[in-house]
Amino acid sequence: MFYIDPHIHMISRVTDDYETLARMGCLAVSEPAFWAGFDRGSVDGFRDYFRHLTEVEPRRAAQFGVQHYTWLCINAKEAENVELSREVIAAIPEFLDRPNVLGIGEIGLNKNTPNEATVFLEHVELALRHDLPILIHTPHLEDKYMGTRMILDMLADFPQLAPDRVLVDHVEEHTVREVLERGYWAGMTLYPVTKCTPKRAADIIEMYGTERLLVNSAGDWGPSKPTAVPDFIMEMRRRQHPFEAIQQVVLDNPMRFFGQSPNFKLQLPGQGASVVR
Ligand SMILES: [Zn+2]
Repeated sequence: MFYIDPHIHMISRVTDDYETLARMGCLAVSEPAFWAGFDRGSVDGFRDYFRHLTEVEPRRAAQFGVQHYTWLCINAKEAENVELSREVIAAIPEFLDRPNVLGIGEIGLNKNTPNEATVFLEHVELALRHDLPILIHTPHLEDKYMGTRMILDMLADFPQLAPDRVLVDHVEEHTVREVLERGYWAGMTLYPVTKCTPKRAADIIEMYGTERLLVNSAGDWGPSKPTAVPDFIMEMRRRQHPFEAIQQVVLDNPMRFFGQSPNFKLQLPGQGASVVR
């Protein structure tokens, strides 16, 4: 089955992973900007990172027929440094016209601090100024419930922001309902240890349906599995869900959400470029 991985950090994966993804039916990946495993020292460190996301990864992906898209921001872990964050936010527009940039992300909260909230709000304003969709990281484990509520409350202060322009990622059983009820898209991250497993993601689909729900591997430096989306497809097939329902979650929904960005032009196998709006 063809699919899109809407959240995966290919900078942390080897080239062989692209080949594996291609063999599994992955047509496109989307790579939000995130933490490098260390705090970067200057705005130029971010400029180099954004060049990597907009120049190097698309070329690596293209060798295997996988399309590479990206989202730009300074992540929540480094947002504690508000001065550096503001320099990065000021530099992001230099990269927004690169052909694989979909929007602003993954912005959000890490430890739910006031500085993280300040930088989150300034990113939302940046996205609104440039009329771009937003991809949001919600915190880990014990910080997730409070952090997700804080994020949803902050978003509610932007009446001009259409909820369907926002994807709230890393939802779990205790956060998915409110995200969907407020009209946002919700992403489930399939991790081997924390966040969701393919079985729990399938349970959530069975509880909430297939509208505005996505699944991703969030493959990164830590324990993670870049082929987690095919694992989810297998679990859904094992439970005898119809093909169309599975395809909606792994292909149609990412196409609809990403299609709101002018740079998203998915090449379907055997077809010309198609833009879904
Ligand atoms: Zn991520």
